[in-house]
Amino acid sequence: MPFAAGRGTGSFSFEFFPAKTETGDRALWEVIRRAEALSPSFVSVTYGAGGSSRARTIEATRRIAAETTLRPVAHLTAVGHSVAELRRIVGQYADAGIRDILVLRGDPPGDPTGTWVPHPQGLTYAYELVELVRSLGEFTVGVAAFPERHPRSADWESEIRHFVAKCRAGADYAITQMFFDVEDYLRLRDRVVAAGCDIPIIPEIMPATDVRQISRFAELSGAAFPEELAHRLEAVRDDRDASYRVGVEHATAMAHRLLAEGAPGLHYITLNRSSAAFETHRNVLDAISPRRGLAVGR
Ligand code: FAD
Repeated sequence: MPFAAGRGTGSFSFEFFPAKTETGDRALWEVIRRAEALSPSFVSVTYGAGGSSRARTIEATRRIAAETTLRPVAHLTAVGHSVAELRRIVGQYADAGIRDILVLRGDPPGDPTGTWVPHPQGLTYAYELVELVRSLGEFTVGVAAFPERHPRSADWESEIRHFVAKCRAGADYAITQMFFDVEDYLRLRDRVVAAGCDIPIIPEIMPATDVRQISRFAELSGAAFPEELAHRLEAVRDDRDASYRVGVEHATAMAHRLLAEGAPGLHYITLNRSSAAFETHRNVLDAISPRRGLAVGR
């Protein structure tokens, strides 16, 4: 595992997205500072589908590397980039002191479910970008994994074959797409191991605290939303506090079970807000070692 473990939790980490506005940036930095106080194994910053948000990913990860004690993992996608541009961006990450890249193919900008068209001088699949990044320096390289299968994969056989190709190309670890049923993660892990690949697969946890938002994310990512959880959230649809409690409770139960099943860590989606992800993690720590007194707020 390329990342340090937390006490009893394997690695634990938080995902942010680059802010689009000054207000958003202030909120992002507030949550980054709160994350820093928890000493996570790493934090990651997503890479936008196109345009100026990409420069913001580079700037946010640069600042995290320069101004905090956190270890930033920069996401990078192949969307809309020639190989020459990708080389330049990886060079910019290296110059900023970033040594950890989460390599992704990405989706077509505009309509993520639309036809994938590679840049004429670019790359088609993530494994090619893994090879490129590997050839450019001493980076730790992560890739994506899909507990419910990538929406574009025809079947599990091709899904696993293509995942293993990313391992063979040099991936050190994987982070999953969000999911809501632990069994999906366990089945994926078993299939990957059976195919001869043993890189750590870190589950991504998304506390489902807002039924509208989660349904939209689930639709885009292809993640199934368990009926029981949907019913519980639907019942408290207009009660923010109650929705929050349902989401954190479900995420906490998932995190406990994943760790008990030997998951190598937990990667939390924060949506640039500290509350649900941090509280879920505090619950996990409390169960391991009660009364650690971790300060969280909403
Ligand atoms: P690939 O591994 O290339 O797979 C894409 C599809 O092609 C799959 O169906 C695969 O089975 C198939 N395939 C792979 N190799 C071959 C081959 N040789 N022949 C035929 N078919 C093949 N997107 C962003 O835009 N920015 C982000 O920051 C971002 N962060 C993410 C973080 C995580 C943890 C995850 C899980 C996803 C993230 N995504 C992000 C979304 C991701 O870019 C999309 O899900 C994308 O559709 C798949 O990317 P991939 O790297 O898995 O692609």
